[in-house]
Parts: sequence; C-alpha cells; structure tokens
Amino acid sequence: MADLKDHYLDWIRDAHAMEEQAVTMLTGQAKRLEHYPALKARIEQHIHETEGQSAQLQRLLDGHGDDTSMLKDLTAKTTATMQAMGGMFASDEVVKGSMAGYTFEHMEIAAYRVLISTAEAIGDANGKSVFEAILEEEKAMAAWLYEHLDDTTRQFLAREAAEITARR
Ligand code: MG
Ligand code: FE
Repeated sequence: MADLKDHYLDWIRDAHAMEEQAVTMLTGQAKRLEHYPALKARIEQHIHETEGQSAQLQRLLDGHGDDTSMLKDLTAKTTATMQAMGGMFASDEVVKGSMAGYTFEHMEIAAYRVLISTAEAIGDANGKSVFEAILEEEKAMAAWLYEHLDDTTRQFLAREAAEITARR
C-alpha cells in the first residue's frame, strides 16, 4: 500500500503544478486577447475554475499530510512546453492558442482519469469525488474550445483577408 500512496500523492502534486501552470497560461492568453470576446470570456471563466481546482488539490495534499515541496522541476519544464505550444507572439496567436488550449485540456483530462482510478484503488472517496468534479470542468472547456475552433479560425481568416489586426 505504501507505494500506491506514494504514486497517488505524487500524481496529485503533478496535477497541482499543472493547474498552477494553467492559471499562468490562461491569464496570459486572456490578457492578450483583444478581438475575440467570446473566447476571452470563456478563458476567464476557466481561470476561475482552475484557481478552484488548484485550491482543492492543495487541500487534498494537506489532508494527506503531504509536506513535500510542490515546486519541482516539472513546473519549469511545463512552462517551456506551454510557451512553445501557445504560439505566443505568433502572427496567428489566437489559432495557435486555441489549439494549445485544446491539447492542454486533454492532458488534464488524462491526469484526472488516472487520479480517479488511483483514488478508487486506494479507497479515497473524497479525492475521487474532487477529481470527478474537476474532470467535468476540463471536459466542458475542451468541448467549448472544440466547438469554437471553426468559428475562431474563420474569424481570424476573415480579419486577415480584410487586413484587420487579427492575431489575438
Ligand atoms: Mg484544470
Ligand atoms: Fe482545464
């Protein structure tokens, strides 16, 4: 059982680092968006959700008496990855950002699926219900981005064609 719990806490810590990174990435995206109000509003809603997710994960870790430092090299690695993925400062920033956001949500979905299975194996009902609730928020955000990718792309292309500032 000891090993299972080690993995479990490790994966919750990873998820916490992932959410902290998500807040940074989403805040950067929302701040830079100027011409895509629907996308900006949905990202702002998800920032709020993500801050809640991060706090819930922190409470779970505290409840398990975890006193390990949260700041692992993972954070630095994730930062670099997300900056590259986000296509920030690219001329098609809004499109690259939407693609990166969609990808990131699926990384989160996978992480919470794993945590739900592990919570079941360990018998942590409280953790399981927290992860299930977070999973639904990630799936909703992924679905929204998917549903609006076509619209975002068309808006970007139309603005480009009309030579109006379109990048974000
Ligand atoms: Mg999240
Ligand atoms: Fe998310």
